[in-house]
Amino acid sequence: MKIRVGFGYDVHALVEGRELWLGGIQLQHEKGLLGHSDADVLIHAVCDAILGAANMRDIGYHFPDTAGEYKNIDSKVLLKKTVTLIRDKGYEIGNIDATICAERPKLKAHIPRMQQIMAQVMGIEEEDISIKATTTEKLGFTGREEGISAYAVVLINKL
Ligand SMILES: [Zn+2]
Repeated sequence: MKIRVGFGYDVHALVEGRELWLGGIQLQHEKGLLGHSDADVLIHAVCDAILGAANMRDIGYHFPDTAGEYKNIDSKVLLKKTVTLIRDKGYEIGNIDATICAERPKLKAHIPRMQQIMAQVMGIEEEDISIKATTTEKLGFTGREEGISAYAVVLINKL
């Protein structure tokens, strides 16, 4: 069995007048993430990690933000397409470990739901996706609540 690792990182700005979508679910918050799609920063980092593991470029390459068809798109659709891309190359997801950096809102209570939804979209076990949340101790752009960032690593394997 061949095992490969991939890494993903993403940032979106937090602005007023946008819905906040994170990990495939909508959260109640006075601001939301700005982007061409629904700007789900966690899903984007996971997509990049999956594509990176298969050496298949990045999310912007496959789903360009100049394409009208992706405007305000639900990132779960992009996640599903990403998994299909690597499955077509013979890869399966082993496990995912991700971290969201956000000062607010508090994410702890929402993480099990994010795991459930994302696992369902990717067709993997909830046990195989770990999602962690941290603040940056009020430091930097995430600390000032100007944006949210996310990191992800993923193992994929080919039988
Ligand atoms: Zn993004």
